[in-house]
Amino acid sequence: MYKYKDVKLTIIEGDITKLKVDAIVNAANNTLLGGGGVDGAIHRAGGPVILEQCKKIGGCPTGEARITTAGNMPSKYVIHTVGPVYKGGSKGEDKLLYNAYYNSLKLAKEYELKTIAFPSISTGVYGYPKDEAAKIAVGAVMDFIDNEKGLEEVIFVSFSKDNYLLYKEILDKATNQ
Ligand code: ADP
Repeated sequence: MYKYKDVKLTIIEGDITKLKVDAIVNAANNTLLGGGGVDGAIHRAGGPVILEQCKKIGGCPTGEARITTAGNMPSKYVIHTVGPVYKGGSKGEDKLLYNAYYNSLKLAKEYELKTIAFPSISTGVYGYPKDEAAKIAVGAVMDFIDNEKGLEEVIFVSFSKDNYLLYKEILDKATNQ
């Protein structure tokens, strides 16, 4: 467990759908109508109520975020955000990925949510290099903590040991451990 300015930063290896937090973040696509990877897992675990709400929302631009309830999952909400498809790195992917994290946290704050869990957005089908993506994730979360109050814990959920160890290395450095 790490700490940055009174906010707990936790890294775990596991399935984000099982976490009992205020909000889990979904790495969705622009339609918000479901897909593979973590998106598929969230819709399967949460049940049809999430898709019903997503249909009403009607999509989400890349880098922005939208919120629904979490259906049958133990968390209270799902924050759906859309990371960029990685096209080599010169198409503004870094800023879009940063925005996906930052805007998810802004939406969490609007709903007065204190604990939030993120998957490694864009690092699956969307092809973002995992190490760069993890640095952007941690940077965006720390910037948010610098700028805003109210957050208590951010959990970075990895679906593999390798990705977990990447976050560990980055957070060891960023928090001087
Ligand atoms: P994207 O389209 O944004 O790349 P993916 O769902 O394909 O989204 O992958 C994002 C990350 O989520 C990947 O690192 C993948 O290993 C991870 N992932 C897949 N299923 C889960 C899950 N149930 N819990 C947490 N992370 C998951």
